[in-house]
Amino acid sequence: MTPRGLLPTAVGSGEIVVHVLGSGSGWPTPRRDTSSLLIGVVDGWSLVECPGSIVHKLAVLGLLPGDLRRLILTHNHVDHIYGLAHLLQAMAIAGAPATFELLAPRQTIESVHGVVATHGLDDKHHPRLELVEVELSDEPQVVPVEGLRLRAARTAHSRDTAALRFEAGDVAVCYSSDTRPCEAVAQLARDADILWHDCGGPHRQRAAFSQGHSSALEAGLIASKAGARRLALMHLGSRDDRELQECVQEASGAFEGPVALAEDGETWTLSETTEDR
Ligand SMILES: [Zn+2]
Ligand SMILES: [Zn+2]
Repeated sequence: MTPRGLLPTAVGSGEIVVHVLGSGSGWPTPRRDTSSLLIGVVDGWSLVECPGSIVHKLAVLGLLPGDLRRLILTHNHVDHIYGLAHLLQAMAIAGAPATFELLAPRQTIESVHGVVATHGLDDKHHPRLELVEVELSDEPQVVPVEGLRLRAARTAHSRDTAALRFEAGDVAVCYSSDTRPCEAVAQLARDADILWHDCGGPHRQRAAFSQGHSSALEAGLIASKAGARRLALMHLGSRDDRELQECVQEASGAFEGPVALAEDGETWTLSETTEDR
C-alpha cells in the first residue's frame, strides 16, 4: 500500500489506485478543497464527484479531461457537482470524446440535465452523455457498468446520495460520500481495504452537523462494524489542527485499524499482492 506518490501510468488488473483530489467540505481551506476522488482500475480512471478546479487538478497529474473513463456523482449538493459545466466545456475545447459515461442517482441526473441545458452543453462540440442511473437501496446494489466492479448503497443524508464500493481482484475500497452514520454504509464497506468516511468534526460538536454528516466517533464505529482495514476521515470542514487531531483520536478509540485524515494530493495504490494491506 502506497500512501503518497505520483499516479502510475497504468493500473494493473487486481489493482486499485485512489488519488485524493480534494478531502474537504463545502468550505475549502488552504489545505483541503471540496471532496473528490480519482479512482483507477484496469478499465481506466473514474472521477468521483465534480467540484471546481477539476480540470486543473487533472492537468497537474498529467491528465486531460478526455483521459477520464467516466464521472460518478454521488448527489447533487453544490460542493459535489459545481465543476460539471466546466469539465464538459473543457472536453469540448480539448476535442471531446464522442461520448462520456456519467453515473448518478436519479435526482442528480435531473440536475445534470439542468446544467447541460443552462449552459448549452448539448451541441455537437460536446460529448454526448451516456447517463447511467445509480439505483439507491439500503442494501448494497451492483451498478451495471461495463469494465467496473462497482456497488452502491443509499446513505443517510439530506438528499438522495450514493456511497460507493470499488473492487478489483480481492481489493476493495469504499467511499461513504456525505452521510450520517448508517447501516447501509457499514454493509457496503464490509472488509474493505480502506473506507473513506464522512467526518463533520468531533462528536462534542455533533449538533452543528448531525443533520447530514457523521462525527469522527461515528465514522470510527461504522468502520469497526464494517470490519474495514483502514479508515480515512473525509469531507473535513474548516477546523484547526487541534480539532482535526481530536477527530483522529476519537475515531481511533472506536476502530482498531489505522485512522488518518484524508489529504489532498495523496495517492493510494492497493493490489492483491501488497502485503501491508
Ligand atoms: Zn451533501
Ligand atoms: Zn458535501
